[in-house]
Amino acid sequence: MVRPRNCRRVGSMPESNYFKPRGIPLSMLEEVILTVDEFEAIRLADLESLYQEQAAEKMNVSRPTFGRIIESAHKKVAEALVRGKALKIEGGEFEMASIRKFRCYDCQHSWELPYGTGRPGNCPSCKSGNIRRAEEDRGYVGGLVEDKEGVVVGLNKNSSKREMSPNIAKRRGNPNNGHQYQ
Ligand SMILES: [Zn+2]
Repeated sequence: MVRPRNCRRVGSMPESNYFKPRGIPLSMLEEVILTVDEFEAIRLADLESLYQEQAAEKMNVSRPTFGRIIESAHKKVAEALVRGKALKIEGGEFEMASIRKFRCYDCQHSWELPYGTGRPGNCPSCKSGNIRRAEEDRGYVGGLVEDKEGVVVGLNKNSSKREMSPNIAKRRGNPNNGHQYQ
């Protein structure tokens, strides 16, 4: 599959994409735009405390590139905090990581698998068949914008992120139709 160069892999979209200082009307605020790949860099380096090498690997970029992304991200967050600006998270060159999360309802074990490997039949920990896609994996399904090859390229702002269309729900229920959401 041909992908644009430098496409940064993002494992998680922001729960909320707008932060503003309380008590100041939006019209009076300056905005800082944090791109989704910068948001991901903060998540990996500052929240998950990954080393830059590991974080760079997760985002499919070189370590120096990761260093530049996180530096820019820190500057923007600092600017918003210190200067009292609104922080908006949007845009950037990225694709969603092709990872599916599963959870076992019997032992609560959870694990991740890449797309294209088929739905697992049993929990790798206790062998139970009582497994489901993990809830945190279902966030943006209704609002994802995909390119022709099914690579997620962004969010559809007109669509609620918690909404799951009946079609997608149906596709999820059928493990043999080859769709990426299986
Ligand atoms: Zn289990």
